[in-house]
Amino acid sequence: MGEGICHSREIKRFEALESNVRSYSRSFPAIFSRARGSIMLTEDGREVIDFLSGAGALNYGHNNSAIREAVAQYLASDAVVHGLDMVTPAKLEFMDTFSSTILRERNLDYRFQFTGPTGANAIEAALKLARKVTGRHNIITFTRGYHGMSLGAIAASGNRFYRDASGVSLSGTTFMPFDGYFGPSIDTADYMRGILADESSGVDRPAAILVETVQGEGGINVAGAQWLRSIQALARDVGALFIVDDIQMGCGRTGKFFSFECAQLSPDIVAMSKSLSGYGLPLSMLLIKEEFDVWQPGEHTGTFRGNNLALVSANAAVNIYWRSPTFSQQIEATGKVIRSRLEVIASKHTNNFAVRGRGMALGFDCKTAGIAAATTRKAFEKGLIIERCGPIDEVVKFLPALTINSDTLHQGLDLFEQALAETLREDRVISP
Ligand SMILES: *Cc1c(COP(=O)(O)O)cnc(C)c1O
Repeated sequence: MGEGICHSREIKRFEALESNVRSYSRSFPAIFSRARGSIMLTEDGREVIDFLSGAGALNYGHNNSAIREAVAQYLASDAVVHGLDMVTPAKLEFMDTFSSTILRERNLDYRFQFTGPTGANAIEAALKLARKVTGRHNIITFTRGYHGMSLGAIAASGNRFYRDASGVSLSGTTFMPFDGYFGPSIDTADYMRGILADESSGVDRPAAILVETVQGEGGINVAGAQWLRSIQALARDVGALFIVDDIQMGCGRTGKFFSFECAQLSPDIVAMSKSLSGYGLPLSMLLIKEEFDVWQPGEHTGTFRGNNLALVSANAAVNIYWRSPTFSQQIEATGKVIRSRLEVIASKHTNNFAVRGRGMALGFDCKTAGIAAATTRKAFEKGLIIERCGPIDEVVKFLPALTINSDTLHQGLDLFEQALAETLREDRVISP
């Protein structure tokens, strides 16, 4: 008990010292001191299962020991950690490994642009480049899309709360309905084609179409393969670049390394970040088709581009996990296990809950924000870190590490199941 009191006193120090803007620390009020794999340890000695994985930045788990070995060796050798974008062996090794192991295997051919360390900066660079290539300003983006917090990225993101916080008018984008937005009977790709073909639709010719194949923050909304192919074809037909934001759904999250492999797409630009470094270190990049690499030297710059330590861990992650198809198969198998357990849980209640997702990115749609909020709060009390997403935070989002073991996975799912059942029981007592 003494420890608990001390603990809450420490948390009060955060309230005094750190800005109101902090958010995850409010959802998960504990002091986290150590972590390994899918388990985080709090300072007062609790073990918590992590189904949030740094919002998708920890696909290979916390402090992955095999990746850490490469990081530790690099640090011990006095090799260059920060070199702006100067040439280092670490950068060359990463590009060689990524080209031969990831790109060539998939018949893809790209140039690398290392952007500033955030996903948002990769998106800024992609939009800038598309505008430069086409000489057009308009970016087509989608309802419920999320692309980051900087002004260009937020202009392409749907969420009203974040848009309102910008304080300036956001421009240069047109929102189109994502796949399934009007229900299964309306093909929104056809609708878009009609709009863009119409000389009087009021929608300016786009520089790019920017899409997530599975919307992460937007509620785990999965685009169909046929729809994605139609969008890509449409981009080609109207002279726009086709950009896939694979920041959250890339690096194996949906089963394959890239989330667009299931639709055999060939994007003109791919944005990557989050789990790219494999170790939670900040690293972002664009993959650019050579014909669109029209930058002048230094035209998009930044102090922290392609940090060498992050490139070393990224290189290790590709070498360790992506040299054979085994890891992909394992992700797809684990994804099926999670999905079927969530479907069983949904079927035990009469609330019209829905389960959706692809690979190991799954959403449990509670349909109301209240149920989702109470469930995730109770889940944390029981020892599970899990977040919410969707327009009103009504979807519980399952993003466990791709490397999670079966026991921990089922324990986490048990905690979610119990938290949901308790929430519904109390809900019934309050509102009979
Ligand atoms: C997280 C995210 C971003 C922004 O990345 P930051 O590193 O937070 O700037 C962009 N797009 C998608 C799909 C994301 O999930």
